[in-house]
Parts: sequence; C-alpha cells; structure tokens
Amino acid sequence: MAKITRKPAPRKAAVPKKKAKPVATKPKAPAKKSLKAMKPWTPAEVHEVFSRFRKANPEPKGELEHVNPFTLLVAVVLSAQATDAGVNKATRALFEVADTPQKMLDLGEERLRDYIKTIGLYRTKAKNVIALSAKLLSEFGGQVPRTRAEIESLPGAGRKTANVVLNMAFGEHTMAVDTHVFRVGNRTGLAPGKTPLEVELGLEKVIPAEFMLHAHHWLILHGRYTCLARKPRCEVCLINDLCRWPEKTV
Ligand code: SF4
Repeated sequence: MAKITRKPAPRKAAVPKKKAKPVATKPKAPAKKSLKAMKPWTPAEVHEVFSRFRKANPEPKGELEHVNPFTLLVAVVLSAQATDAGVNKATRALFEVADTPQKMLDLGEERLRDYIKTIGLYRTKAKNVIALSAKLLSEFGGQVPRTRAEIESLPGAGRKTANVVLNMAFGEHTMAVDTHVFRVGNRTGLAPGKTPLEVELGLEKVIPAEFMLHAHHWLILHGRYTCLARKPRCEVCLINDLCRWPEKTV
C-alpha cells in the first residue's frame, strides 16, 4: 500500500503587527481657526485673572523638591518627560548623598543610575547630570550660573530648564512653558501659539510685571489641577467667566 503523506498546512502569512501610536511628546498646537476666533484679552482682564490666582494662592510653590540651585537644576533636567512626583521619589535619596557638583561626581554615573532608574531615559539623564556637574566645576566654580546662555550651555539643559532655574533659584521674571502652561495659554486665549516659545513670549508680553515672579507656577498649577488636558474642570475654574475657550463647559 502506498504510503500517504500529508502535505504540511501552508503557513499563514504573518499579519503585520499594528504599529503602536507614538506617544505625543509635544503639546498639540491649537487649530488656526480657533486662534483667530478668540477675542484678545484686555489688560484689565489679564490683571483680573492674575489677581484671582494671587488671592487664591499668594505664594505658589513648584512641586520639584530641591535643597539648593544645583539640586533644582538636576531635578529639572531629570524631569523631562517625567512627572514631578516620579522625580521627587528618586531624588529624595539622591540629594541626601549628592547635593553639590563635587559630590555628584564622587558618586559617579553608575551609582547615579541606580538612584534614578525609575525615571524615563535615566541612562541619558545620568550621563548629562555627571557631565553638567563636571562643567559646573571646571567652568563656573561649582556654582549654577545666572545667565540663560550659560545655563543652556550645560548638558541636558534647554530653554525650559533655564527659565525654571532663573525663576525659582534667582527670582527672575521668566516663563517656563511646559505642557500645562502651553495648554492653558492656548485654551484661555491669553497667549495662543503653535510652539512653546510663541506661548512663552506671548505670556511675557501680556502678564503685568507685578505677577511675573509667580505667573509660571499659577499657570502650571491651574493646568495640572483645574484646566486638565482631557476633562477641564470648568465648573470650578476661577477664571471661567473670562476664559475664551469655545469648548469650556460653563
Ligand atoms: S474655563 Fe475651562 S478651559 Fe477655561 S481655563 Fe477654566 S478650566 Fe480651562
């Protein structure tokens, strides 16, 4: 009897896996149409908004924990694409052992990585923190410099880092634009812009000097706790009568 041999079943063609949607790393710019439709704010209205923020929270504080300008700088560098809470969790122990550039160098990149391994992009960030500590020692006498250009020259530090450090460590009237400030600036119509830089310059132009020291924190906190990205809490928003967002819910 002839031997029956079965042909192996044809292999199913591999179905290509769906590509994961890329995580948005940049805040979304507003549509051109909505930018045009917004009625510009009057100086009296802007003054009113910041007076309300000041009344509600006279001394707003940043949420990144630090003990001196150096640890603030390190915390801001570590916070790129990470939450303040996540950074604080890692830096509490780190800053106990390394709160100066020299101590950070003595700790070394490998041990630093261990402290910050819960933070995204920690390998690159560890490299940058060690390099910036070395540069602070070799070029700035171990101190955090006080000019934007000098801070931006440090590894891992960009415009936002410089704005946060200049504002929080040295009391300068800078406006750091993170995802929250970008959203609030656009939605409210206070400073519509397609890029963080446009929003930064727009806010600097409209906010009266008397509010500039704390304006960055008021806007961040407003975006973080009230004007939430997905479901803004317009019903409890302090400035809902003045906000220009066409989709506000009150
Ligand atoms: S009214 Fe709504 S959209 Fe406007 S700032 Fe307040 S929370 Fe944001």
